[in-house]
Amino acid sequence: MSSTTDDLRPVRRETVTVDVAGVPVGSRHPIVVQSMTNTDTADPHATAIQVGRLANAGSELVRVTVNNDAAAAAVPEMVRRLRDLGVDVPVIGDFHYNGHQLLVEYPEMARSLAKYRINPGNVGTKRHDEHFQAIVRVAIENDKPVRIGVNWGSLDQDVLTELMDANAVAARPRDGRLVMLEAMVESAMRSAELAELTGLGHDRIILSAKVSGVRDLVDVYRMLATRSDYPLHLGLTEAGQGMKGVVATTAGLAIVLNEGIGDTIRVSLTPMPGQDREEEVRVAQQVLQSLGIRSFTPQVTACPGCGRTTSTFFQELAEKVSLHLRDRMPVWAGQYPGVEELRVAVMGCVVNGPGESKHADIGISLPGTFEEPVAPVFIDGQKGPTLRGDGLADEFLRLLDDYVERRYRPTAATSG
Ligand code: SF4
Repeated sequence: MSSTTDDLRPVRRETVTVDVAGVPVGSRHPIVVQSMTNTDTADPHATAIQVGRLANAGSELVRVTVNNDAAAAAVPEMVRRLRDLGVDVPVIGDFHYNGHQLLVEYPEMARSLAKYRINPGNVGTKRHDEHFQAIVRVAIENDKPVRIGVNWGSLDQDVLTELMDANAVAARPRDGRLVMLEAMVESAMRSAELAELTGLGHDRIILSAKVSGVRDLVDVYRMLATRSDYPLHLGLTEAGQGMKGVVATTAGLAIVLNEGIGDTIRVSLTPMPGQDREEEVRVAQQVLQSLGIRSFTPQVTACPGCGRTTSTFFQELAEKVSLHLRDRMPVWAGQYPGVEELRVAVMGCVVNGPGESKHADIGISLPGTFEEPVAPVFIDGQKGPTLRGDGLADEFLRLLDDYVERRYRPTAATSG
């Protein structure tokens, strides 16, 4: 990682660019957010609806499993329904065990997908290369890129055994964990080499090596990043549910992304009962936005509160502002270019309230316990109106709307 004095953000690792049906992945292109459905792909209606929801939430690529004949047969219809809904997100097929058969036997399915994911640990053992190459040939015929996605839960056992055997007789054997990670990298690299030998273009390959431990993720992607200039798909596999899944994913991705490694990300959360699938998209976006890599939605800075804020008013206002922004964004995103970079502060007392509010585009510093019951608003770092009384929350939301309209309304120069 290197940086310049005027921009301290990490410099992205140099890669080739892979075009996934119009979405560029790699090089200096924005890091792409992707997700995966959990509907039965054989149900084209349910899958199209979920792909649409994920895309509307901001997923720029969506993967579906293609696990059997019924799923393969349903994919073209699902993609047609999706386009009828006005959703043009590229759909990726995820193949294990029988991809070499399905992609050949269902040519319309092969054409309608934007990319194929191949797991080299799941293409068979005896006829491994033959099956792998069959998938690659379909990709070449249809001009599709592939992701060679290694997963430690289904690692190519031949590669692992070979490296473990070599390690066992080495003068200084390495830790078994490192050998396993090295086997993942080796599996990805050998598969990429075989794909290119089969005729697939160098710029049609994306790699991933997914593990479920944060430390392993950091180590394996550091290793993978030094071995080639293929774009990398990042993700912590089987991250888990709720807070554990979000924190573990964020911890792993943040370290690697901050080293400039990673060109597309997926957050593999297990949804809580009743939770929507789009949560994984929102988390992925928030990871990138929190790292200052991409902006997706206005951010609200709020203090945690302490003994100086004995009422819950400021917590309620912070929530109200967040919900207001979320409700407005579907319209604002189309009307006001750049609004996704808006920073709003809602602060609990005079200690850090004015200072933090001045750092935001618009902020409000509420009165703490025993302070005078007035709330100064700061706009672009300058003190603006002072609010008080029962209508304070609505008045602040009005000021917020006015600010957005004034600052982000396209001018003749920006709209031309
Ligand atoms: S800004 Fe005030 S209320 Fe908020 S945490 Fe700091 S001291 Fe406490």
